[in-house]
Amino acid sequence: MDLQALLDDIASESAPFAAQGKVADYIPALAAVPATHFGIALATMDGGTYGSGDWRMPFSIQSVSKAFSLALVLARDGEALWTRVGREPSGNPFNSLVQLEYEKGIPRNPFINAGALILIDRLLSLTGDSLGTLRDFLRAESGQAAVDLDAEVAASEAAHGHRNAALAHFMASCGNLENPVERVLDHYFRQCSLRMSCADLAKAGLFLANHGLRADGSRLLSRSEAKRINSIMLTCGTYDAAGDFAYRVGLPGKSGVGGGILAVLPERGVLCVWSPALDRHGNSVAGVEALDRFTTRTGWSVF
Ligand code: GLN
Repeated sequence: MDLQALLDDIASESAPFAAQGKVADYIPALAAVPATHFGIALATMDGGTYGSGDWRMPFSIQSVSKAFSLALVLARDGEALWTRVGREPSGNPFNSLVQLEYEKGIPRNPFINAGALILIDRLLSLTGDSLGTLRDFLRAESGQAAVDLDAEVAASEAAHGHRNAALAHFMASCGNLENPVERVLDHYFRQCSLRMSCADLAKAGLFLANHGLRADGSRLLSRSEAKRINSIMLTCGTYDAAGDFAYRVGLPGKSGVGGGILAVLPERGVLCVWSPALDRHGNSVAGVEALDRFTTRTGWSVF
């Protein structure tokens, strides 16, 4: 298969779908990103990297970071996490408050914002520096030493982060945070502001396609743990559109409101798409379209 020609075709066919979406503006610094960017990259298990469009241009990874946080917590703490966060789809928006009160401060899953705050809280307790641990990991796996945060995006989100603050304070009131709320939020906002390209993210995610083995051959996760993260990405990685994403794409995926989506092709590689215009669930419209076209054309889904 001519992967380069395939990605070029998919890029030109999918990019126009951005017109159906809207760039996130609840974080003002993200609203300034042109909706016309489109990138797609495929990192393969044999070390190949293919891409089309803006595939080397860094963007705000936002909630794509949560797949990596989950991996780093499971690697250090194993199953202990599941007393503090569930693993069921939420059926609610990623920043919803209402379910958290009904469910007594236990987030439905690690990929909605409340659940990700728990991941960061735990990684802070385990390492003393959640953001630094994640950044070092992403640099090592992507081979891109320049991976870093965007201070302007982090500050913009902190200034408008009332919902995330509400989620964190509520969980603290239920006894489900180990660290001070302000510290957890600070690491969360800065983590979400990390900038990476499609190529960097695809390479950084290869351990998820490779049963938990890192780029240097060392083991981060057991085979079962890698399977579990992929399973949670499939059921919860695109929030209250996870059913539609699974129906259309048939791959584990994790999206972010910067417009990125990471999708895992077990034993083959990792795909990453970026197009900033989002649907009402916070998933990239052209990004989902591209992944749908990719699995339809190649037959490379998990089903
Ligand atoms: N930083 C964003 C927020 O907390 C992340 C959300 C997302 O990417 N879905 O709202």
